[in-house]
Amino acid sequence: MAGITFQGVGKTYAGNVNAVREVTLEVADGEFIVLVGPSGCGKSTLLRMVAGLEEITTGQISIDGRVVNRLDPADRDIAMVFQNYALYPHMSVRENMAYGLRNRRTPRDEIARRVDDAARMLELGPYLDRKPRALSGGQRQRVAMGRAIVRQPAAFLFDEPLSNLDAKLRVAMRGEIRRLQRRLGTTALYVTHDQLEAMTLADRLVVLNGGRVEQIGAPLELYHHP
Ligand code: ADP
Ligand code: ADP
Repeated sequence: MAGITFQGVGKTYAGNVNAVREVTLEVADGEFIVLVGPSGCGKSTLLRMVAGLEEITTGQISIDGRVVNRLDPADRDIAMVFQNYALYPHMSVRENMAYGLRNRRTPRDEIARRVDDAARMLELGPYLDRKPRALSGGQRQRVAMGRAIVRQPAAFLFDEPLSNLDAKLRVAMRGEIRRLQRRLGTTALYVTHDQLEAMTLADRLVVLNGGRVEQIGAPLELYHHP
């Protein structure tokens, strides 16, 4: 089954902090899911378990039908976009975008083709030889998107990717992320605390509270108060 499946997923940190409890959820192939809820409700932890950055304490997570509990982050078919972009300062835009593929022994010409395609989609062509410090915040965010796109993963994981941008750029970039995700058809899990961003992006919203799923539904179902 394509998409992402959570079966009774839980996370207990040292000190008996139950950050995520009994989360069961089927994310359809190509679906855009936004995780929302108060600070500390477990959004980041859930995302990081999918990414392999946190161990899964209980239950099972599958990506495209493959159980990932015991797989290294590099062996999971995902790409993550972080709030701070996590770009390598000493590498050019091109090198930053290619880096994850080089590690995976993708052939050189295939890497070049994918980087050029992504640069075109993101209008980064003129900046490919610059270092991140010579880019604006919005451009850095695009490079982070480009690095995710070139991997051609089964899923994108977004951890508050726009929260370091000013309000105007945030609106522009969220439209861009949605457009790219639709065009590529890649399943997306997106964490934000911005309600408008959540409503604009989501096919379905997942509201977490105290580590549990409190509500799931399309934005209008959840926010329509008759
Ligand atoms: P959110 O992303 O919704 O703000 P988090 O997933 O970051 O929530 O955190 C969920 C809960 O787990 C919080 O109580 C937080 O303090 C706790 N937590 C997160 N990371 C760790 C950690 N590495 N060690 C211990 N507790 C953690
Ligand atoms: P967010 O809620 O956006 O994840 P935080 O500042 O809460 O941002 O967490 C930043 C990092 O610190 C995360 O990697 C998270 O796992 C970790 N963290 C959060 N809470 C705790 C905690 N109580 N103990 C140890 N690490 C924590």
